[in-house]
Amino acid sequence: MIGLISATAAGATARDRLAAAWPGRVQVYEGPVREAVERAFAECDALVCFLATGATVRLLAPLLADKTSDPGVVCVDEGVRFAVSLLGGHGGGANALTEEVADALGCTPVVTTATDAVSVPGLDMLGLPVEGAVASVGRAILDGEPVALRADARWPLPAFPPNVTDAPDVSDVTLHLTDRVLELGPREAVLRPKSLVVGVGASKDAPVEEVLGLIEDALADAGLSALSVAELATVDAKAQEPGIVGAASRLGVPLTTYTSQELAAVSVPNPSDAPLAAVGTPSVAEAAALVGGGELLVPKRKSAPEGRAAMATCAIVRRPPRGRLAVVGLGPGARDLLTPRAKDELRRASVLVGLDQYVDQIRDLLRPGTTVLESGLGAEEERARTAVAEARKGHAVALIGSGDAGVYAMASPALAEAADDIDVVGVPGVTAALAAAAILGAPLGHDHVSISLSDLHTPWEVIERRVRAAAEADIVVTFYNPRSRGRDWQLPKALGILAEHRTPHTPVGVVRNASRPDESSRLTTLGVLDPATVDMMTVVTVGNTATREIAGRMVTPRGYRWQSGTPGEAK
Ligand code: SAH
Repeated sequence: MIGLISATAAGATARDRLAAAWPGRVQVYEGPVREAVERAFAECDALVCFLATGATVRLLAPLLADKTSDPGVVCVDEGVRFAVSLLGGHGGGANALTEEVADALGCTPVVTTATDAVSVPGLDMLGLPVEGAVASVGRAILDGEPVALRADARWPLPAFPPNVTDAPDVSDVTLHLTDRVLELGPREAVLRPKSLVVGVGASKDAPVEEVLGLIEDALADAGLSALSVAELATVDAKAQEPGIVGAASRLGVPLTTYTSQELAAVSVPNPSDAPLAAVGTPSVAEAAALVGGGELLVPKRKSAPEGRAAMATCAIVRRPPRGRLAVVGLGPGARDLLTPRAKDELRRASVLVGLDQYVDQIRDLLRPGTTVLESGLGAEEERARTAVAEARKGHAVALIGSGDAGVYAMASPALAEAADDIDVVGVPGVTAALAAAAILGAPLGHDHVSISLSDLHTPWEVIERRVRAAAEADIVVTFYNPRSRGRDWQLPKALGILAEHRTPHTPVGVVRNASRPDESSRLTTLGVLDPATVDMMTVVTVGNTATREIAGRMVTPRGYRWQSGTPGEAK
């Protein structure tokens, strides 16, 4: 819950706006401000104070306890000009909340946390648990001091700046990336990859303490960190077993379950008869830990309660890291048509693969230290192969394309190369047909199709058959790749096929460089359009027989029945 506190009428107005925008997420604390802040601080995950930062600091000072448990605090000034992240920027979520408040109220977010300000990932922002001298190592990374990176394996992390290297003996400042328990020096921190799967078996009503104690002992004896446990795993029949469910929740990890058939199919070093009789598989702990592959670090061991028989078993497997491939559409050109998700993925990557001209479009967004693998036009297959190969090495890779990366672009050649040994994430982008449509008016108001006129990879007969089908079906058509210097007869030919089924007055929109600095567009007709004025930076949208020019805009009605308002029609 987010607590809202204000002192003045202006503050209360802004507070009520936020309360109205976020129903169920916020609680208004009324009454004397000091008491309101005290109550909210004790009860909420975060506070938004419509107060000056000075006043807020004085009110908060006696309440502060610990960075890891204090709520995040955001201040908004009376004039609603700024939202300021005051306290708990990372751990307390105040930086993220500041951005949200600024969005909701239309003011400027102010974030002063150093790591966010200079776009180096904060060690606590990488999505992995981190221990040791976190502040000191974070500071060294930021200050450009040499920092040694000691990783057991390559995990798909965002880029670190160039002063963080795996060269030997560079520095006494060290960032480890390992699931092993280490003796840390005064300037060492360790990131915990989520590498361990703990398979667990338990007989009915085994106590949580027994299950948890067994897991903790097994980890400790093997020199492994509990922070690296990714999940507990067991058999379906034990999905509700309180001891197992409780242990997962105390460790803060999910519980994955498998059918006994799935587990019986896994070959394990220590099968036994007891689970076979009870749940139908010769192994629960080892098999559940090994289902997804990996290295068995701790074979099955049993709990050792005093004075009675053991009720729990566990086994620990280290699974290999999986690389991550994000296929990211950058939109048609303008920065504000690049989605926030696309931006996040660019900053999530340590390797960027793309066409040089697209890389230029977003280079300023990349984290310092990102490896950029750019190539020229025509090297699609090679780019796709490179992106997949880098992901397979364990990197976090972003493969970029203009518009939507899945539309006449990189997603399909890349995924045709990829096997299931990497994780793939797609980020949609605004494709040229949509960017152009928004400029032209509403040409895509009814059924529409995109057709690429490039016969480089597709035989012309196939393209022509599709154009003819669209013509006969009276579908609005957007032509991509309409015409280049070497390919000049395809567009007139395609327009000719459409003209067999549509009048010369059919509106045609021509948009060049949509959303780029030299954007231009014009609305003409099938009878008048001169194909020679079209080039490869352009999309051409041809209306259907109902499309009209209205007030200089291209409009395709949603349907005749819609227009005439027949009752009961499908809308
Ligand atoms: N993946 C891209 C399309 C790549 S094919 C997308 O989703 O938009 C390349 C063709 O797309 C170009 O020849 C042109 O026809 C069209 N195109 C791409 N960006 C454009 C823009 N900003 N304005 C107009 N046409 C564009």
